[in-house]
Amino acid sequence: MADSPHTFDENLSAAGEHLARFRESPLHHLIAGEARPSVGGEVFTNVSPIDGTELGEVASGGAVDIAAAAEAATEAFGAWSKTPGEKRKAVLHDVADLIEERAHQIAVTECVDTGQTMRFMSAAALRGAANFRFFADRAPGAADGQSLPTADHVNYTTRSAIGPVGVITPWNTPFMLSTWKIAPALAAGCTVVHKPAEWSPYTAHLLAEIAGEAGLPIGALNVVHGMGETAGKSLTEHPDIKAIAFVGESSTGSRIQEQGAATLKRLHFELGGKNPVIVFDDADLDRAADAVIFMIYSLNGERCTSSSRVLIQSSIYESFTERLAEKMKSVPVGHPLDPTSVVGPMIHPRHHEKVAGYRAIAEADGATVIDGTPWAEAPAAGQWVTPMLFTNATNQMRIAQEEIFGPALTAIAFDDEADAIKIANDTQYGLAGYLWTSDVGRAHRVAHALEAGMIWVNSQNVRHLPAPFGGTKASGIGRDGGDWSFDFYTETKNIAIAFDTHAIPKLGG
Ligand code: NAD
Repeated sequence: MADSPHTFDENLSAAGEHLARFRESPLHHLIAGEARPSVGGEVFTNVSPIDGTELGEVASGGAVDIAAAAEAATEAFGAWSKTPGEKRKAVLHDVADLIEERAHQIAVTECVDTGQTMRFMSAAALRGAANFRFFADRAPGAADGQSLPTADHVNYTTRSAIGPVGVITPWNTPFMLSTWKIAPALAAGCTVVHKPAEWSPYTAHLLAEIAGEAGLPIGALNVVHGMGETAGKSLTEHPDIKAIAFVGESSTGSRIQEQGAATLKRLHFELGGKNPVIVFDDADLDRAADAVIFMIYSLNGERCTSSSRVLIQSSIYESFTERLAEKMKSVPVGHPLDPTSVVGPMIHPRHHEKVAGYRAIAEADGATVIDGTPWAEAPAAGQWVTPMLFTNATNQMRIAQEEIFGPALTAIAFDDEADAIKIANDTQYGLAGYLWTSDVGRAHRVAHALEAGMIWVNSQNVRHLPAPFGGTKASGIGRDGGDWSFDFYTETKNIAIAFDTHAIPKLGG
């Protein structure tokens, strides 16, 4: 997280300037390097989460628009997949350079489009550039395989880009998340059709525009806007799209599996989470409290790896929840472009209703609701919520089982290590787990026992791009990061060459 070097006024004025284009004319798809309206002329309206005003109209794609984008990606695939890795590396570094140059534009656009705050979106824009650099550097090795010799043969493997792929992304940190998928796909030699979330369409356009300026060949990255049930569904069903990298809700992942069955799509899923953070009574409680607060109230709590369930050892439950409540009450809610704000508005009326609705659900289930401090100047027509902390909760309550995806933390007591593990694993999800203890043996034991793809011990989520990212159970299929990304975007081939020494069975004459 980097503090924005810009003042609130500077951010407001940059937003006015950069968002004017979206107000003046509808945002089109970007197919084969051209801005194109939907063939059927359909549009949808994008609305500001800050004050409910209309930001602009956006093309709403369907099967024919997806078909045009798939055709462009297929045409571009031939040359891009054969472009030497060193050249792909250079182009992708140029994309990263331009992202850095336009990072402020990307960040203010994202803030207004999503309601997430500047202090996180400015860092997220730069992380987008870092994602491109990381995979750019690995592009020359994307085709590397293994040597697996035997006494009579040399086996070696090669990897080649799988083909044009579809990337479907959600609305939380949409720019950063799309680079996390698109950069490795392009580095591997694939071409892409990107269907961004309909609630946050703008920065996908900026990324494709930047990629074109950086010299990515026409058709290598196409963007089709629209609804999941139309544009998204068509993308998952298109026979020329060889794989779908999807980030979103677990239930949408299930639907995509069904939709992709007929064309045997290769699928990579990064889905929902209800991640536990376990705080033992021997932990460094000052650091633990700050990390717990950070991992649920940063990014509006709209974060797949948020630690949305805090499991606290009974001996410190009262004192630790009091400490959390005190810190939570001083988390500043405010305008997303104000660099001092932490929590901004929820992205959409539907999401706002869902998150705010958990207050009544928590009360009905018997939990205690502690409220944060609202923003006194919040525009009435915006999607504003106040941070919430639910104490005296049990793991059976809906607030402990359902992904709220907002600034709401559920605090549950546990007795001992076995109890903590049981509660932590009693969920359909398995994305991330966090634990705080000063006992090294226990840290290892619990880390091994937790059913999750990623565990952080005595730490908030600190990403290391070569490390695998992904979840188990209903939280996902597959891993991103390092070489894992290339495994998804490439086909592996084994080539066995005989030394002419092995016996060949003779079956006749
Ligand atoms: P969502 O599943 O509603 O939508 C995600 C994308 O899928 C959107 O672009 C949407 O248009 C599209 N879509 C919807 N229905 C579709 C269909 N039938 N076929 C094809 N595409 C379809 O998710 P969301 O509400 O945008 O995002 C929030 C979710 O994303 C949360 O559950 C969050 O945990 C998850 N998420 C996971 C990770 C991770 O790395 N595991 C990261 C970020 C977000």
